Amino acid sequence: MAKTITLIPGDGIGPRIVDATLRILDAAGAELEYDRQIAGMAAVQEVANPLPPETIDSAERTGLILKGPLTTPVGVGFRSINVALRKEFDLYAAVRPVVTLMPGGRYEDIDLVLIRENTEGLYVGVEHYIGMQGDPKAAAESVMIVTRFGARRIVRYAFDYAVANGRRKVTFAHKANILKYTQGLFLDVGHEVAKEYEGQVEFEDMIIDATAMHLVMNPYRFDVLVMENMFGDILSDLMAGLVGGLGMAPSGNIGERLAMFEPVHGSAPDIAGLNIANPTAQILSACMLLDHIGQADAAGRIRTAIRSCLRECDTLTRDLGGTASTDEFARSVVGRMR
Ligand code: ATP
Repeated sequence: MAKTITLIPGDGIGPRIVDATLRILDAAGAELEYDRQIAGMAAVQEVANPLPPETIDSAERTGLILKGPLTTPVGVGFRSINVALRKEFDLYAAVRPVVTLMPGGRYEDIDLVLIRENTEGLYVGVEHYIGMQGDPKAAAESVMIVTRFGARRIVRYAFDYAVANGRRKVTFAHKANILKYTQGLFLDVGHEVAKEYEGQVEFEDMIIDATAMHLVMNPYRFDVLVMENMFGDILSDLMAGLVGGLGMAPSGNIGERLAMFEPVHGSAPDIAGLNIANPTAQILSACMLLDHIGQADAAGRIRTAIRSCLRECDTLTRDLGGTASTDEFARSVVGRMR
């Protein structure tokens, strides 16, 4: 029976890459039905609310969201609508696979997973200016919150993910040498949880700056990486760069009752409406959703077709050095599944 999911096409390049994704899902025989909803700029324009209650209700009902990137309109009370959605549904684990699909890049055969804590750290949004000597913005302060509960559930998620997916090692990246309380607590919890998985999954901890260097010099030494919110944000982009850039980076945001799948990249306003965006990250996010709901066969067919396109055909989008449009690339993927 077809599974109903909430579909949010998004802003900027979102509608076009989501449309390409739907054609590919259909050709792959994915058994999905879509409850179309709006959020972000599109929702502000239509109903003057970036996160309408109908969208939230739909997501609560279906438990699954496939989402294009959203633009956060200025002055609507949200720092980021993407972050707000993750918070609304307590989607605490961002899962970001980084896999080589196209040969000839910086490295071959990369197969890594970054797991980012999605709800705490500096993203709690406790931030303000401090006025001094007549200057209302003489200083600014942001608060980083790490809770034992939050640290434990994300590290445990990383280990459970490693076990479930036959992964050999979890690397915990941190800055506990400087941020002795927040990162120190996170690291303590990391070691505590690692003990429960001794003999099953290897564990190492590594300072975040060293992690960044090693990822660039020898990514093969890693397998699953887990870290707090902002470090995860930064290293996601770095790791996307190892396999062809942001157009290749999908993600899943997982909570207890709901999961949301979206590309790592934003709405790319600089190329919106030009039909040149690479839809791969969006398509691979849909594949993650299919895996999540037990339709791995359809996901497998799509990944094989994408791989074959990226390896053999001349329909590469511009970010990958080609001249193909979003639609041409999608047609080529569909063609390979026939
Ligand atoms: P956000 O703050 O939401 O991450 P941003 O504007 O900082 O948004 P992106 O929207 O991700 O970042 O865009 C960063 C750059 O990457 C832009 O130059 C954009 O054109 C490019 N880019 C992002 N996604 C794609 C894609 N799917 N295909 C091609 N180029 C892309």
